[in-house]
Amino acid sequence: MAITTSLAGKTAVITGSNSGIGLGVAYELARAGADVVLNSFTDRDEDHALAAEIGKEFSITARYIKADMSKGDECRALIEKAGACDILVNNAGIQHVAPIDEFPAEKWDAIIAINMSSSFHTTAAALPVMRAAGWGRVINIASAHGLTASPFKSAYIAAKHGVVGLTKTTALETAEEPITANAICPGYVLTPLVEAQIPDTMKEYNMTREEVVKNVMLKRQPSKDFATVEQLGGTTVFLCTDAAAQITGTTISVDGGWTAL
Ligand code: NAD
Repeated sequence: MAITTSLAGKTAVITGSNSGIGLGVAYELARAGADVVLNSFTDRDEDHALAAEIGKEFSITARYIKADMSKGDECRALIEKAGACDILVNNAGIQHVAPIDEFPAEKWDAIIAINMSSSFHTTAAALPVMRAAGWGRVINIASAHGLTASPFKSAYIAAKHGVVGLTKTTALETAEEPITANAICPGYVLTPLVEAQIPDTMKEYNMTREEVVKNVMLKRQPSKDFATVEQLGGTTVFLCTDAAAQITGTTISVDGGWTAL
């Protein structure tokens, strides 16, 4: 049987997609022909304009739906408002860096809610929709920190390991259906979030931009290069094609060799 790569006729819901990796994933899914639903917790004109721009560029239907991924009921409402959800990309995420004994409890709760529990709620709401449609893809944007740890990122690492576990359980519960669930584990990706950290780090270490990137940020990334949002989008599209129909319950690292160390 020929392998189908077009996603025309599919609807993709991407959480946390008005910036960074989520936006890159939305672009690549739209390029492959999927209709896309963008999301974040804001409701600005520019959020809706972004969706309109993607819709126009790829001649697909693109919408923006506000929903706060720290709230379970809003996560579930996002899927309901989307109306269809063939592809669910759980991407929304935040970070906070502090030693465990100084880690603010409210930051712990927010990271666990946004980076992990939101995926439980959206998946719970999306699986019946996928079953009714007879096809589905759950793609969780975890992290190299879903497979390994670093100091001072306890909540993020706990949440991302949790997402990898949730991915495996989702895959087992859907194993005999035409639905797959996988986690993509990026290393460092040059998103606005990461870019914004470069000037301060240059000052802190008295280093050039190149030195900060190579010796601080990409210290653990053997390729000494960032992954790009387009590469993450392309990996997501691959997981939606027929070529990936038997790939389920696993992680795909896009980390320049980080987890091979
Ligand atoms: P980003 O800050 O550019 O994007 C995060 C997105 O999540 C934004 O669209 C933001 O609006 C949204 N968001 C935040 N809180 C939300 C909430 N309460 N409700 C709804 N949306 C919310 O960061 P990014 O680097 O693109 O990160 C995206 C995902 O990729 C995260 O899960 C992150 O952990 C993961 N990741 C990033 C990197 C990296 O190096 N950038 C590496 C590994 C994993």
